[in-house]
Amino acid sequence: SKESIKDFLKRNLFVLFTVAAVALGIVLGFALRSHNLSLREIKYFSFPGELLMRMLKMLVLPLIISSLVTGMSSLDSKATGKMGVRAVVYYMVTTLIAVFIGIVTVIIIKPGKGSRDSPVAKSRNVEMIQATDAFLDLIRNMFPPNLVEACFKQYKTMYKRIVQTRNVTENLNLTDNAINTTDANVNLSRVLHTIQETLEETVPMSGSSDGVNALGLVFFSMCFGLVIGNMKLKGQALRDFFDCLNEAIMRLVAIIIWYAPVGILFLIAGKIVEMKDLAEMGGQLAMYTMSVIVGLLIHGLFVLPLLYFLVTRKNPYSFIGGLLQALITALGTSSSSATLPITFRCLEENNRVDKRVTRFVLPVGATINMDGTALYEAVAAIFIAQVNDMDLNFGQILTISITATAASIGAAGIPQAGLVTMVIVLTSVGLPTEDITLIIAVDWFLDRLRTTTNVLGDSLGAGILEHLSRDELQNRDEEVRNSVIEE
Ligand code: ASP
Repeated sequence: SKESIKDFLKRNLFVLFTVAAVALGIVLGFALRSHNLSLREIKYFSFPGELLMRMLKMLVLPLIISSLVTGMSSLDSKATGKMGVRAVVYYMVTTLIAVFIGIVTVIIIKPGKGSRDSPVAKSRNVEMIQATDAFLDLIRNMFPPNLVEACFKQYKTMYKRIVQTRNVTENLNLTDNAINTTDANVNLSRVLHTIQETLEETVPMSGSSDGVNALGLVFFSMCFGLVIGNMKLKGQALRDFFDCLNEAIMRLVAIIIWYAPVGILFLIAGKIVEMKDLAEMGGQLAMYTMSVIVGLLIHGLFVLPLLYFLVTRKNPYSFIGGLLQALITALGTSSSSATLPITFRCLEENNRVDKRVTRFVLPVGATINMDGTALYEAVAAIFIAQVNDMDLNFGQILTISITATAASIGAAGIPQAGLVTMVIVLTSVGLPTEDITLIIAVDWFLDRLRTTTNVLGDSLGAGILEHLSRDELQNRDEEVRNSVIEE
């Protein structure tokens, strides 16, 4: 019909806009590089991109809460339980596959073989973050003692630990100074500084809405939704409230989405103007970057689509076509949280995935399911082992797989969170944490690619889970229909 042709054009025109924005951003970025802009000028130039980031983040908080509460309360507990189990199985299986692909890729390509590009003094390994502590932090975050605070503070514990250890190492350094200065401590202190700076840049600690304890809010909203779902008539007012809130937020998303191509253009151009000269990149680092890219491509373009096809028997690439806008937003923002509003829209509007599924699995997926991050953590850890001429035995590789999975669950959906949780993986097998400095230079770039993979994994997951849960969804439809007839 006429209407659908118009719709079709509108949708594709839009995708075209977004792709053009990326291309234009890249061209503009490289063109401006030769002009040696000052940091201030770059900041002004990136302003339209910064605005997009802020708009998206603005919507994330009410979106996570309203979608999870409505998602959970619109299904009965049995259906929710089944879908929940399937979601967890999907998250675990795909994350482990991602880690496996990463390990195989990095072992085959061996980016770290040969002598190291930049000599770093051997140091004693200061255990700055124990895996157990990090794990307990994860569980702790699921129970925010103060819900209001959870809306604007996250990563506090991890951040605190890093700052504390930095202070400890600096003290060590001072006392060591009297006897004998060790390069190692200087190095470690340098890397901690860098991590802290990265954190400060990406996760402003106070006074801004950037930091959300997503895990805590997700957990609370799920429980809350379940409870009001079971409250029968009494819960109706609350169910209506959150349903309406969700609808309103999605309408705001529909407006903001028109601004997205402009924002993405400037986000990408700004980053290209700002980045260091690529020629400075050593051979090992280039090979490392390539290993991560190859791994992500295998996982995102072959393995996940194959899984989608095997389960649903539908064409995975046309499904991915509907997601293009979300994937490009992930590339531009390097944050799966900030991309969430767009992911919702792509899945519900373009791919027509059942809202009860998206509302349930997307916020959870954006918070804990990160295939790209898990893959990257495994590659980076083994790369660092290779650079240090350390042969890893099977047990150590297994440890890396487990901690890389945990680190990806623990990483927040914000820029470069994976770099911070990387510390857990390295400490678990006794690799020098200061070697994170080796990979920091390319992290902003790999971050964008792994975030895109993360969003892809969440979205294909929603499609797969919808297919697997179709019986429960149909039953529920019938139940609702019958109850309407009874009334
Ligand atoms: N930036 C990634 C994300 O938002 C997390 C990471 O740093 O790996 O999904």
